[in-house]
Amino acid sequence: MSFLVQKYGGTSVGNPERIRNVANRVAESHKAGHRLVIVVSAMSGVTDSLIKLAKEVNPEATAREVDVLVSTGEQQTIALLAMALHGLGVPAVSLTGAQAGIVTDRIHTKAKILNITPKKVFEHLDSGHVVIVAGFQGQNEDGHITTLGRGGSDLTAIAMAAALKADTCEIYTDVDGVYTADPRIVPNAKKIQEISYDEMLELASLGAKVMQARSVEFAKKFKVKFEVRSSFNHNPGTVIREEHAAMEDVVLRGVSLEKNQAKVTIIGVPDKPGVAAGLFSALAEAGTNVDMIVQNVSQDGTTDLTFTINKDDLTAARKVIEAQVAHTGARSYTAQDGIGKLSVVGIGMRSHTGVAATLFQALAQAGINIQMISTSEIKISVIINESEGPRATQVVHDAFKLGT
Ligand code: ASP
Ligand code: MG
Repeated sequence: MSFLVQKYGGTSVGNPERIRNVANRVAESHKAGHRLVIVVSAMSGVTDSLIKLAKEVNPEATAREVDVLVSTGEQQTIALLAMALHGLGVPAVSLTGAQAGIVTDRIHTKAKILNITPKKVFEHLDSGHVVIVAGFQGQNEDGHITTLGRGGSDLTAIAMAAALKADTCEIYTDVDGVYTADPRIVPNAKKIQEISYDEMLELASLGAKVMQARSVEFAKKFKVKFEVRSSFNHNPGTVIREEHAAMEDVVLRGVSLEKNQAKVTIIGVPDKPGVAAGLFSALAEAGTNVDMIVQNVSQDGTTDLTFTINKDDLTAARKVIEAQVAHTGARSYTAQDGIGKLSVVGIGMRSHTGVAATLFQALAQAGINIQMISTSEIKISVIINESEGPRATQVVHDAFKLGT
């Protein structure tokens, strides 16, 4: 007998038939004698439509009321799954985040979990129940409902597994695990058996949308080993865990492609202290997330400053940039969307040489121009034209022989 936390995402509970499919799987584990805590997301599309509804009623709805509204998505699923399990003769009880003892800070719509007091969860487990917990939500110390940011059910599952000291945490989704590249772009991409937290974090924040990045950070901090696998078959998935020595033998774990980027260059910026500080503070105040930044060596007292942002932020960013160009006396600026970021990730990069050379050669041979480069200890990213992104991903994947 083991103690399992399982999380089922929105597509896995997307309609009544799928909820019954999850119930069947949970019933099997229950029959095998396991202690089970099941975390569920809202049915796919529900959170989006609740957010849309709030905007229609009042575009400036307060974050507190938005949380009261969107948390109902998960509350529907816990009840429906409990009902489906009852139909199979399995004792099950549903709990909201607050009932499960999840206490967060006061930052509505992206709250952090402060602590979990799982007294009720244990009581129900001890009386033989499967406990179903609503993902994505908790309550703050004043008793107000909070939510944990988009994709936050992953965080609920990881945090629950840590607090309950469960043996295993399984994240069920609509893909078989984490792949060496997006299989829709690279047909011979391979499922990764084992990956370190840091590699998973890089891939998660680089557009491989398998897991919420915050939940991976939490897992790393509390050393929660977990597996990402599919709720539609019984294939083994990908295990995410602490690094061990043999993991470095593999040079690269995967290639990711982030689309929908935009590139801005400010030309002829006066080369003096405070200019970059002023520009990026103004962008931050406007809520624009800046990704890669490159400043050229200055000539004649001026320099060029190039950075990338999300394409969706470009319209708002233009206003800020125009004001900053005027304010600093920069010559002009250019902005273009249709930009993509390709990254290669792997802890093996620390001990293997020549990764950058192989990457750049593969792109050169395919005639793909690199516009910007940035590196970290376990990652190299290049900015390219978005339209060349899929081909670039395939050639790089081939160059590192990552495929099947
Ligand atoms: N339902 C929430 C969302 O769509 C949380 C989740 O699915 O993990 O973001
Ligand atoms: Mg989700």
